[in-house]
Amino acid sequence: MAPKYHPTPLSGGDRKAQKKELAGARAMTTVFARQAEEFRAKGEALIRKADKLTCESWNERMWADGEPIDPSPTIDQAINGGYPWLELECSRCKTPNDIDLAALQRPSTTFVYDLAGKLRCWKCHRAGKRPAATLLQLAARTRYDDGRRE
Ligand SMILES: [Zn+2]
Repeated sequence: MAPKYHPTPLSGGDRKAQKKELAGARAMTTVFARQAEEFRAKGEALIRKADKLTCESWNERMWADGEPIDPSPTIDQAINGGYPWLELECSRCKTPNDIDLAALQRPSTTFVYDLAGKLRCWKCHRAGKRPAATLLQLAARTRYDDGRRE
C-alpha cells in the first residue's frame, strides 16, 4: 500500500509543525499499542482471578451444602480459573468419576451445573438407567493418575 499522502503546507513553519505532528502520531501508535497490551494483560489476570474465586465459591457451597448447584462457573471459567477437572459421582450407584472439562465436546460457555443431567454413568447406562450425576467439586487435577476412572 502506498504511504498516506499529506499535502505539504506552503509556509515553512507549517511544514515544520506538520513534520512534528506526524512524528508524534507515529510515536503514539507504539505507545498506545504497548499500553493496550499492558492493560489487556492486567485485565486478563483479573478475570483469571475472578474465575478462580467463582470456582472456589462454588466449591465451598458444594462442600458445605451440596446445593444449589446453580449458579456455577462455566466450563471456560473453570478452566481459566485453574480448575479444569470436575469431580462427580453417580447419584444412583455412587461410582466416582473425574471429568476433564477441556476434553468435553460441549460449548465452553456451558455452565458446569448443566452437566449434572448430561453426564451419564456407564455402569447404570448398561443397566438401562439414566441417573443424573452428583457434582462434588471443581479441581486443579484429577484424583486418578490416568485421568479417567470407569
Ligand atoms: Zn451409576
